Amino acid sequence: MAVMLSEELKKADRLSHIGVSEILTITQRAVAMRAAGRPMIILGAGEPDFDTPDNIKEAACQAIARGETGYTALGGTPRFREAIRHKYQHENGLTFDLAEIMGATGAKQVIYNAMAATLDEGDEVLVPAPYWTSYIDIIRFCGGVPVCIPTQEENGFCLTPAQLERHITPRTRWLFLNSPSNPTGSAYTEAALGELAAILRRNPAVNVLSDDIYEHIAYDGFVPRNILQVAPDLRGQVLLVNGVSKAYAMTGWRIGFAAGPRAMIDAMLVVQSQTTSCPCSISQAATVEALTGPQDSVRTCVQAFSQRRDLVVDSLNAIDGIHCLRPKGAFYAFASCRDLIGRRTPHGQVIASDSDFMAYLMAHDVAVVPGSCFGTEGYFRISYAASAENLQTAMARIQSACAQLAQP
Ligand code: PMP
Repeated sequence: MAVMLSEELKKADRLSHIGVSEILTITQRAVAMRAAGRPMIILGAGEPDFDTPDNIKEAACQAIARGETGYTALGGTPRFREAIRHKYQHENGLTFDLAEIMGATGAKQVIYNAMAATLDEGDEVLVPAPYWTSYIDIIRFCGGVPVCIPTQEENGFCLTPAQLERHITPRTRWLFLNSPSNPTGSAYTEAALGELAAILRRNPAVNVLSDDIYEHIAYDGFVPRNILQVAPDLRGQVLLVNGVSKAYAMTGWRIGFAAGPRAMIDAMLVVQSQTTSCPCSISQAATVEALTGPQDSVRTCVQAFSQRRDLVVDSLNAIDGIHCLRPKGAFYAFASCRDLIGRRTPHGQVIASDSDFMAYLMAHDVAVVPGSCFGTEGYFRISYAASAENLQTAMARIQSACAQLAQP
């Protein structure tokens, strides 16, 4: 059989607007260096380093034993959607009908479903930067135009009401909010959400996609709220997106879910019906246990992440030329390396950008992700979902690498 060379393949035009995640490319490079014998510490991936709790794994085994191995209803079994309804009722004080809830193959698919179901060519989607990289590609893939709004470190990387107001046009269909955020770990206060809500109330054609996937990973007693909790009257405009990947260390089980207006959920189900069909039946059973079973594992993980956050942020802030806000949630530190730009490596190369800095750290056996991947240059992201020992070694390497840089 003839093998098709990649340059012979006529790719769809829509693929020209999107690419494979840069984070994945950096991680793959670091993995290859490790395979070649280098002691790489990879702080790129957004994945908890814990295993899925045993009670959740056991629920999956039981589902297999019961023969729950066939297709389920498109948005998930009634038991699964009931567990999601229970979650929203008990954790967020929000009441949804089962018809206002759907499950999908990860939160990423929920976001894809929402964009594919609602965007026409040229529709605008407001995305505060720094953002999770996939937002941009998904919006483009669905024909939309991502309108990136740069947030300021002084505002805790949160969108201000004035910025929101300024960017709304007749073509705006969505505003994305992600709190706590990947990559900055910043989170909106109730007061800040209330101010954004006041503007959205005056702009009923603008929907909000509230990506709450890091909701449970928050520190120092802070309890993140979503915009619907703060402004329940916006119910017709808000799609809540969540999943089990981060809080329950279930990235490989591929379960995300959404709650929102029934018409929106119905349209998203149409997309899902012709792409992946129902989410995995066994993962649905595991999710029921995750959402309704004991929650101690979440608390244990958050405690561990909180100590690692302090280790990473304190170490970074002690390095000349780097500074980092203390994240309120998620498991990322987003640090500025702007003061290092222009400095010279011992080999005489100038660090001209955050990508150069990333490459320089890579040569010191630490993989991080440059801020430009998240739409904000001059920064780098560290995922502290790694062992304290590895984080300590990585911090020492970064410290030593920076100390070797000469002032311009
Ligand atoms: N939203 C954000 C902000 C994320 O960081 C991620 C995972 N990196 C997702 C959504 C997707 O999560 P999943 O598809 O695993 O549910």
